[in-house]
Amino acid sequence: MTSFIIAIDGFSSTGKSSFAQMIAKRMNFVYVDSGAIYRLVTLNALQQDLFKDGSIDQNLLKDSLESIDVSYEIKNSKSEICLNGVNVEKRIRMIDVADHVSLIASFGFVRDWVNDKLRKSVLGMNVVMDGRDIGTTVFPNAQLKIFMTADPQIRAQRRVAQLAASGSNPSFDEVYKNILERDYFDSHREVSPLKQAADAIVLDNSHMTMEQQMDWIMSIMREKFNFTFDEA
Ligand code: C5P
Repeated sequence: MTSFIIAIDGFSSTGKSSFAQMIAKRMNFVYVDSGAIYRLVTLNALQQDLFKDGSIDQNLLKDSLESIDVSYEIKNSKSEICLNGVNVEKRIRMIDVADHVSLIASFGFVRDWVNDKLRKSVLGMNVVMDGRDIGTTVFPNAQLKIFMTADPQIRAQRRVAQLAASGSNPSFDEVYKNILERDYFDSHREVSPLKQAADAIVLDNSHMTMEQQMDWIMSIMREKFNFTFDEA
């Protein structure tokens, strides 16, 4: 079977992961969160104390990649990411990781390392993958590309609620600032910046519920690609 790839890119905290997970469940696709791997590399660098005054020695970072083993654990039928055998799914969402991840993701050698893992992990599968450069760089031939955006204030509110639910309580201002900074950094880096692929469809979900977003993509899958799936 030829694999079908749905590439979801877009700004920080636009709900890409939640949307992609819902799609995977409803359409029986494999979900891959590419941002989690950048976050995991960042956490590893923090744990190894590689940051000095907000910058990092690239040779030490390069060496650190060699000691990283990425694996997944299935918990409540969701896959959670592990760094050297330790489940870090929650830890990588914390604000210290969010504050350093865009710098880590700006290095070409980190991106090559991550992209290699992403491409190898999904060979021959039907996949929905979310990130910043999935439709432009990782899978430029993806059959369906979606570019997600939403009002930054709404994104920050959603993110604060999500973090509170997982026991972390940064302020609205802190989260809002981090979102704006990551948007800027991710869109302006030299290597593989966040940008809409020419053939991507834009989804602005500022005022949409998850069900409305699901209806939107299911009608595209039905009408454009003749997909049939269980109407749950
Ligand atoms: O998607 P998430 O917000 O978890 O991604 C964390 C960070 O990882 C982003 O802000 C971005 O700097 C980086 N990233 C990236 N390319 C991807 C996925 C994430 O540069 N494909």
